[in-house]
Amino acid sequence: MSAFSGSSIWSRTKMSAETHAIVVSGIAVQIIRKDIKNLHLGVYPPNGRVRVAAPLAVSDDAVRLAVIERLGWIKKRQAAFAAQERQSAREMVSGESHYYLGRRYRLHVIESHGAGWVAVRNLNTLELHVRADADAAARQRVLERWYRGRLRELAPPLLEKWETILGVHATSWGIKKMKTKWGACNPDAGRIWLNLELAKKPVQCLEYLIVHELAHLIERHHSDRFVALMDRHLPQWRHHRAELNEAPLGHADWTY
Ligand SMILES: [Zn+2]
Repeated sequence: MSAFSGSSIWSRTKMSAETHAIVVSGIAVQIIRKDIKNLHLGVYPPNGRVRVAAPLAVSDDAVRLAVIERLGWIKKRQAAFAAQERQSAREMVSGESHYYLGRRYRLHVIESHGAGWVAVRNLNTLELHVRADADAAARQRVLERWYRGRLRELAPPLLEKWETILGVHATSWGIKKMKTKWGACNPDAGRIWLNLELAKKPVQCLEYLIVHELAHLIERHHSDRFVALMDRHLPQWRHHRAELNEAPLGHADWTY
């Protein structure tokens, strides 16, 4: 399978359409060859699927080596996704741990009337006020609505701050639940999306994501220019990215 090594006679269309799988240390690795500069290794939810996007000239053996080098990291990511699967099967009952702005809170479910609401008590308790007949899904919706409201308050001042610093303007922004990404940017539309899960992370992670997505309005790719922008404006950005990737609900990837 290393026939691509050093080969320049393959036509680009054939190569770029090529997708196949190899097995490395018992892990199935899907390889997609593209006209790209860097090898990109990703571990994806929900099952920890491993996918490598490789430049056309990179051989399967080189991909194999890259996977072996990152084996510890891949297994850690896969374990985190397995934990996430367990975590997502939450019962939404008193005593459970839930996160808000990087801090762990104990859930306290209180029977109440109306649409349901959440209150933070003593920096260690999230009071979830819900109707007596609210099942786990209904309780989850109340909590998510609260998270959404908090992000809606936290994000605008950060957006404004960084729009001024970077000299860009996002025409719109939104919050949504995303399974594989912490944020997204459509540079053409000038639109930015933030993952609802960011409400569970330290606010510095939210800020990093906002800077990252706004930087895409200047440079759409994760190019050297993009990295230089991040280094100049938020020198500690790698730390925040690592913190997000530590989290079970993250898109986990590694770009070389
Ligand atoms: Zn990006």
